[in-house]
Amino acid sequence: MPKSKKSRNSKNSKENEQLPIGAVITRPGSSVKNKTGSWKEFRPVRDEKKCIRCGFCWMFCPDNAINEKFEADLDYCKGCGICANECPVKCIAMVKEEK
Ligand code: SF4
Ligand code: SF4
Repeated sequence: MPKSKKSRNSKNSKENEQLPIGAVITRPGSSVKNKTGSWKEFRPVRDEKKCIRCGFCWMFCPDNAINEKFEADLDYCKGCGICANECPVKCIAMVKEEK
């Protein structure tokens, strides 16, 4: 490895050590305190009349943000749209968040 690249890597390593640790779950069950809903650009809106209560949205949500009534908890929903994509009757619309 050329010397200049090695010294650059060494400098980056020292800078990296000074970065604060982020997004680390240090205690079981503590992720509920990390409300991640503010990240989203879109939110899911379900048409309750069309919903057949199959549970696919609940099953596929990677953030466990959908409750037993198939409502999204917007404090944790990141707006990924997986629920809308998996819904067999397409009753979930992803609506742009207004900030
Ligand atoms: S996937 Fe669609 S139809 Fe199924 S429970 Fe969820 S919203 Fe209702
Ligand atoms: S948009 Fe993504 S995070 Fe939000 S409820 Fe649907 S699947 Fe879960």
